[in-house]
Amino acid sequence: MKKYIVYKKGFPKESLFCFLLGWFIFFTVSCNLDAKKEEEARLAEAAQILQAQKDSIAKATALEEERLRLEEEKRKLEEEEKKEELAKKEAEEKKKSAEKKKKKKEKPPIKTYASPPTPVPNENGLHAIIGVGDMMLGTNYPSKNYLPANGGRNLLSDVESTLINADVTFGNLEGTILDTGGKVKRCSNPALCYAFRSPENYVEHFVNAGFDVVSIANNHTGDFGAEGRRRTKEVLEGANIAYAGLAGSDEYTVFEKNGIKYGFAAFAPNTGTVDIRNISKAQQIVRKLEGMSDIVIVSFHGGAEGKKHQHTPCKTERYVGENRGNVCKFSKAVIDAGADIVFGHGPHVTRAMELYKDRFIIYSLGNFCTYGRFNLRDAAGIAPIVKVYVNSDGSFSHGEITPIYQGKTHGPKIDSRNRAIRKLQELTQTDFPNSGLEIYDDGTIMKK
Ligand SMILES: [Zn+2]
Repeated sequence: MKKYIVYKKGFPKESLFCFLLGWFIFFTVSCNLDAKKEEEARLAEAAQILQAQKDSIAKATALEEERLRLEEEKRKLEEEEKKEELAKKEAEEKKKSAEKKKKKKEKPPIKTYASPPTPVPNENGLHAIIGVGDMMLGTNYPSKNYLPANGGRNLLSDVESTLINADVTFGNLEGTILDTGGKVKRCSNPALCYAFRSPENYVEHFVNAGFDVVSIANNHTGDFGAEGRRRTKEVLEGANIAYAGLAGSDEYTVFEKNGIKYGFAAFAPNTGTVDIRNISKAQQIVRKLEGMSDIVIVSFHGGAEGKKHQHTPCKTERYVGENRGNVCKFSKAVIDAGADIVFGHGPHVTRAMELYKDRFIIYSLGNFCTYGRFNLRDAAGIAPIVKVYVNSDGSFSHGEITPIYQGKTHGPKIDSRNRAIRKLQELTQTDFPNSGLEIYDDGTIMKK
């Protein structure tokens, strides 16, 4: 009973226990809750950091991507620029080459003239002199197979009436005239070496065509040595054809035709001939001739050969290692010394003409009648017969070109295609724009 009262009056043990337990539980729970809250906050913070990190990585990635994109764009732009530049360059080059081509095409047109503006002057009181280029009517060396048919009687038949119709007719005798013998020249290069020996009776063909004078200053006069030269001169003298061109012995000649005294001298760069390169010696000879005659004709065999050398360069010309002279300087110097007409030949193609001090020069008359062993292709197969009318003092009045062509089986024939006239128009306008000459389509040559 007492126990019970105490319990009732005081603080019972069970209640304290319960109270303490309650506090403990409350405390524990409350502590756990705080820790949890703290943990949660920490986690949230970590998550935030993580997110921030993620964000910054994403940002960096985006930036890197942008950088790469920009770089790629830059590269593309540069590539495009390069392409554009290249295209521009190509276009420019194309334009340049097109312009070049155009320029080439746009060469100044060659003037042609249908007919002379004034009638040809009265031929009375004038002297007509014809010049033709290289002549070799056939050779019996190394074999008679190189001789033309019918003893060469038909070779000049197409042009005889033209050639004979002048006071003086001139040509370059590119070879020797003798039937047999003579000491054939020795050649260092047999491919470039030909020796020409025409039968003696062929001189009749020159006589029949009206030849009065020939040049023996060229690279074939010496083909058969001293005997070849001696016999050639003898045969020409027998036919009453004047000649000149050998150094020391036959430097010039004077002959008379229709009451006029003609002086003639011939020059070449070849051994034994009167040297075209010795201009002061040439002037001496011409001065002497001028005192002995009324009209002075000068012939030269000079300049480089072939269709690549059809233009007259007006400087010293070298060919196959040889100095072939300065044909412009030479021609003008001999005119200064008193020459009235200069007939050039040697290139085996036609070259331009010009007037100097009112005197006529043609720089090459081409191949005129070169039978058998000559190249007659293209430019080498056409040539002019040039007829020059001069006044009594030797000054130029006017001229005429008769165009001819040759073939392997025939001598010169009149060319209905007028190729040599056209070539002379072209070359004269190109090489000597101040030639002082006008060449008409029909071949008439007038002073400008
Ligand atoms: Zn020659």
